[in-house]
Amino acid sequence: MRVTLLNALRHFAGRNPRGWHPLLSVYYLTYACEFRCPYCVDGFGTPYRLKPNEVLRGEQLNTLLGRIRANCDHLVITGGEPIRHPDFAEFLAHLPTHRFESAILTTSGNGLRPHLDQVAKAFSHVVFSLDTMDGEKGDRYYGREQGVHAEILATILDTAARFKRRPRILLSCVVTPDNLADVPDVYAFARAHGFRFSLSPVLRGVAPDPGLVGNPAYRALFDRLLADKRRGVAIQGSPAYLRAMRDFAPFRCRPSTVLAVSPSGEVFYPCLEQGQPAGSLLQQPDLHALRAHAKATLGDEPVCPNQCQSPCALGFSLLLEKPATVIEEGLTWLGSLPWRVFSAFSPRARGGSSGDSQTGS
Ligand code: SF4
Ligand code: SF4
Repeated sequence: MRVTLLNALRHFAGRNPRGWHPLLSVYYLTYACEFRCPYCVDGFGTPYRLKPNEVLRGEQLNTLLGRIRANCDHLVITGGEPIRHPDFAEFLAHLPTHRFESAILTTSGNGLRPHLDQVAKAFSHVVFSLDTMDGEKGDRYYGREQGVHAEILATILDTAARFKRRPRILLSCVVTPDNLADVPDVYAFARAHGFRFSLSPVLRGVAPDPGLVGNPAYRALFDRLLADKRRGVAIQGSPAYLRAMRDFAPFRCRPSTVLAVSPSGEVFYPCLEQGQPAGSLLQQPDLHALRAHAKATLGDEPVCPNQCQSPCALGFSLLLEKPATVIEEGLTWLGSLPWRVFSAFSPRARGGSSGDSQTGS
């Protein structure tokens, strides 16, 4: 908490603080993945599975986690598919020793079952990607054999059934022109089981998909989330965030709020989406020195013309550039209290198929 507080104060004090003071770290444990989701590319358009993938193992992996922890309280483990790391079980055993204040695992859920007990000890949150409830379409999306989607749904439900409070579960849905009609069913599944729900638009590199910009069906999805948010449904993002996602509104990115680290320990500069490798945290533990080196070799942090609607980029930009939106989030929560109370005591609201009683975390 202390690190986050000090780092946030530095970002509030100026757009481009001296040194590197991340509010969130994102570690790509491995780029390996057996799936073939149609939208799976980095900010340069390269599918993650095709990126050079030099994973860390043993003591090197542990050392890197320690160096990330020295600079940041909060960690997201992503990929690729993190479970495909060859020492995933060992990694799970080591992670709690670093005492991150929150540790979030993002996963498709494929192959998670044998690790569930350790995952619950290592992570405060698990974010499952889910883009459709249609099994046939899901299998096709993953580019895998029949039945994988059904197995993933079963894993999500099994995780929820076994662990009541920790890890908290979030369903993350990426909306594309191809699955617009599927999103309401994914949302209904999230609500029916009390999972927090996150919706973000697919990116083409760092640009929005032209098929979504101004699309009435796309806008209607976010309008619905905004309305439900006001009633206390567990939806990720403040009202300002949801409006910006809906409108593809421009924002002033603060890329240095996020520390993105490649599987081999290289930090990306200036940002997660379009970063260049700027030096290894294993070879240079001083993050401020790495940033100084990146600035000297790659140039000053640009004022980015791309408005890439990456959830981290938009979320931190709103927090720092428009802090009043945080107050709006608090007021929304307060405004939803009557509905929460009603939901808690009304059998009709509790049993409604729309899942209105899910007030979330
Ligand atoms: S599961 Fe994730 S990493 Fe794997 S193909 Fe899909 S989006 Fe890419
Ligand atoms: S908006 Fe931010 S995260 Fe996105 S490409 Fe630009 S600098 Fe990177």
